[in-house]
Amino acid sequence: MDLRYSAQHRALQEEARTFIQKHRHLSPKTGGGRKRPDARALDWQKLLLERGYFARNIPREYGGFGRPVDIMELAIIAEEFSNAGVSPGIMNQGISMLVPTLLEVGTKEQCVRWIGPTIRGDIIWCQGYSEPGSGSDLAAAKTSARVEAGQFVINGQKIWTSSAHYADMMFLLCRTEFDKSKHDGLSYLLVPMNAPGIEVRPLVTMTGRAEFNETFFTDVRVPTDQIVMGRGDGWHVANVTLKYERMLLGDANKLTYRLARAVELMKKTTLDGCRFIDIPEYRERLLKLQGEVMASKYHGLRLMTEQAKGEDSGVKRLIVKLNGTMIAYRLSSLVVDVLGAAGLAYEPVGEAAEDDEATTWQIDNMYDIGLIIGGGSSNIQKNIIGERGLGLPREPKSAPPAVRA
Ligand SMILES: Cc1cc2nc3c(=O)[nH]c(=O)nc-3n(C[C@H](O)[C@H](O)[C@H](O)COP(=O)(O)OP(=O)(O)OC[C@H]3O[C@@H](n4cnc5c(N)ncnc54)[C@H](O)[C@@H]3O)c2cc1C
Repeated sequence: MDLRYSAQHRALQEEARTFIQKHRHLSPKTGGGRKRPDARALDWQKLLLERGYFARNIPREYGGFGRPVDIMELAIIAEEFSNAGVSPGIMNQGISMLVPTLLEVGTKEQCVRWIGPTIRGDIIWCQGYSEPGSGSDLAAAKTSARVEAGQFVINGQKIWTSSAHYADMMFLLCRTEFDKSKHDGLSYLLVPMNAPGIEVRPLVTMTGRAEFNETFFTDVRVPTDQIVMGRGDGWHVANVTLKYERMLLGDANKLTYRLARAVELMKKTTLDGCRFIDIPEYRERLLKLQGEVMASKYHGLRLMTEQAKGEDSGVKRLIVKLNGTMIAYRLSSLVVDVLGAAGLAYEPVGEAAEDDEATTWQIDNMYDIGLIIGGGSSNIQKNIIGERGLGLPREPKSAPPAVRA
């Protein structure tokens, strides 16, 4: 793929720079605690949608900007927003994971109904996959949905459900076919969080905030048309969503933005009168990370090239999540070290608090550890890359319990 900018691309770059210069004071802060988007974030989102800096390729009938796909345009917009340190818009499980899933495998009615309010930030979604007995082994999910009088009736429990305490909707992986194999018995349902019978119990993490939750279902009823694809297709749909989740979690533009913030901080913070950026030990850590962020960025361009050619990138996408989350954690750890005493003095405060720069880095650092596990742990990513990508022998399954004669 030719990565040089055409005249049209240079014009878009100029237009994006002018837009950012004029409106950057309206951008919400990025990073830190995970909250429901506030009025400022929603207004910013509306502006980005109107100008085509968000949902650029989503059809107009679904609430997007309706431009034909041009990978270079998307790369230019992402780069300009990340270089300028302004918010590229809301990134959450609904927008970054459910919306592309619906575009790929949903019906037209589902796209019309859900995509517009989701990309505007009016509907917040959470992901109901993990259960106490099924995390890495996701297909072992036991939460059930039986059909009764034209409705699914859901019973069971999910865990680690990020944002469930303020979400409006959940995309839920559950068992609907009981006479089929583990993978073929699952379905993917869209469930309103205010349905009677749903109970959300927040789980407070080491940030002192409730970042995720336990979610219990007792005879929760949803219409049978709130299913994506058909009964028994849930494993396929869940994997489409996971594909987008892994790209979101290792996003190279976000890494580039965070790296630029780290460089700024290391220029203005000193130790015994010396700027951190000039201290060899810290400088070396930073340079190594800079190289790795650049590699991630070029890996992202390679995937984009493949996407533009209509090729399936397969396990190469898993490298985004595996490397991106490890780099993010090492980067925020470097900043916490640079912050010194301010990096240690973390006081958990409520979700409503406006976080300062040090607190934002500390919260992100703690959350970065979680993202090495969330969306499929690094061990699982390595297994898949090894087995399906490198053709290594499959991991041995644990032996069944011995039967006594
Ligand atoms: C910050 C955060 C946010 C999350 N948000 C959500 C959410 O919104 N919705 C949701 O549904 N889930 C969410 N999760 C859950 C997440 O997807 C699971 O934690 C993850 O899939 C691992 O599952 P588990 O916790 O059950 O660990 P387990 O599967 O029990 O794994 C425990 C350990 O064993 C290792 N392991 C397991 N199997 C293998 C194997 N075959 N080979 C090698 N190592 C193995 C794992 O790598 C891990 O280190 C979130 C998790 C975190 C940390």
